[in-house]
Amino acid sequence: MTKRIGSLLRPILFLLTSFLLLTFCATRAKAYTNAVTTIRVGLCFERNGSDTADVTLLNEVGNGFDFGYFDSSRKFVKVSDAGKNSKSIYIFIFAGGNTVVMDSGTNAVLYQQNTAAQGPIGIMPIQDGGKCETWCKGFRYYGGFEVTALSKGTLQVLNVVDIEDYVKGVVPAEMSPSWPIEALKAQAMCARTYVAMNINSHGTFDVCNGSCCQVYYGRNTTNAATDSAVDATAGKYVLYNGYPCKTFFYSSNGGATEACQNVWTENLPYLVEKFDDYDTSIDTGYNNWTYTYTAEEITDILNSSGYKIGTVTSITPIYTAVGNIYSLTFSDGKNTVTVEKQEAGDILCSSKYGKYTHSQHFTISGSSSSATGLYINNNSNMLGSIFSAYAIGGDGSTSKVTVSGGSISVITGSGVQTVNPYGSGSNQTGTTFTVTGSGWGHNVGMSQYGAKAMALAGKTYVDIINFYFTGVTIG
Ligand SMILES: [Zn+2]
Repeated sequence: MTKRIGSLLRPILFLLTSFLLLTFCATRAKAYTNAVTTIRVGLCFERNGSDTADVTLLNEVGNGFDFGYFDSSRKFVKVSDAGKNSKSIYIFIFAGGNTVVMDSGTNAVLYQQNTAAQGPIGIMPIQDGGKCETWCKGFRYYGGFEVTALSKGTLQVLNVVDIEDYVKGVVPAEMSPSWPIEALKAQAMCARTYVAMNINSHGTFDVCNGSCCQVYYGRNTTNAATDSAVDATAGKYVLYNGYPCKTFFYSSNGGATEACQNVWTENLPYLVEKFDDYDTSIDTGYNNWTYTYTAEEITDILNSSGYKIGTVTSITPIYTAVGNIYSLTFSDGKNTVTVEKQEAGDILCSSKYGKYTHSQHFTISGSSSSATGLYINNNSNMLGSIFSAYAIGGDGSTSKVTVSGGSISVITGSGVQTVNPYGSGSNQTGTTFTVTGSGWGHNVGMSQYGAKAMALAGKTYVDIINFYFTGVTIG
């Protein structure tokens, strides 16, 4: 989920009354107990075409395999120990959903069941001292497996695994293990809470192993640092009013997180828009990117996306209060096409032209439009970015300029005026259009690079979680 969907390359002060209310709620909140701590992870499944004709499981650490099923509480129930001496087993569909398990060496049939009619076969590696680790399709996993024949005649393979072991397989796949431990802990918190919020979200399983949910490589990528980050936060979740949050994360926001409803649809009180100086303080590899599109290229991109419009002559961007893109209205002088939210961030991300919008944090300007921006004292001294500006107050103190509701107020010769620092709503015209932005991701929730910068600045994972998820508790 660190990558943008559709991208080829693709990471206060409260009012006193609010504070008292939150404190009151927090003291009354019961400790959270997660009812589901065994996770079903899709390894081979139909939706992404990874369903398979057959699968081999190799018990790397233990002895062999037991067969049976996982009950309604996801506990393994043994029916047969016929595979107890088979280190490697081969599973395939014989006919009509009849699923056969053989010893890979002797070809002896160990177990069979019509999984299309009777439900999945549960397969549990047999413990031999430590925890079993089993190879499946090039990856090594803790836990057991569940195999089902799909109606198209292929097999679905799930890893049925303890939530902490699952998180250990996610953290190093989503964040470099060389990053500071507090950032790794914050990532572990997000990964654990995310899956707790997504039980059964993929139909017969909870989460898949790809970037649609969270990348999960089992034991292949784990190391001591990420394992210790998971252990240090074991059993803890990011909570709002006592319930797990949707802990979205991404690589970098380029300077501001965005409210969930301004990118997707849901309005969640803990996913709000917020300036992020941590994110901009660190080299992300995507701090500044710019691409110039011809009007013909933009027209082609729109037409290819199913929008009927002639050669684009103007684009009108609307920005959010923190300068992320909210909508783009394209016009050919006669017809208009408006895209908004995530689509506004994605529409110009084009592998065909090798030009990309990597996040929601960008501005767009037309070749015939004068630059939009703020000027200091005279019209030849344009401010590069409002995000880094400071103002001197009446008492002589300096403070960072903040933007409220997408605008700021300035004193001019004719009194106080409201200025729109992003050029929101200004019609950009021309034959070419330049996109300038920063960041990589969807901007909702935690910035991984921001978390890294916070950890390097001495902040704890609790600080990081509280910065990116407003009003939450950890428990
Ligand atoms: Zn998924």
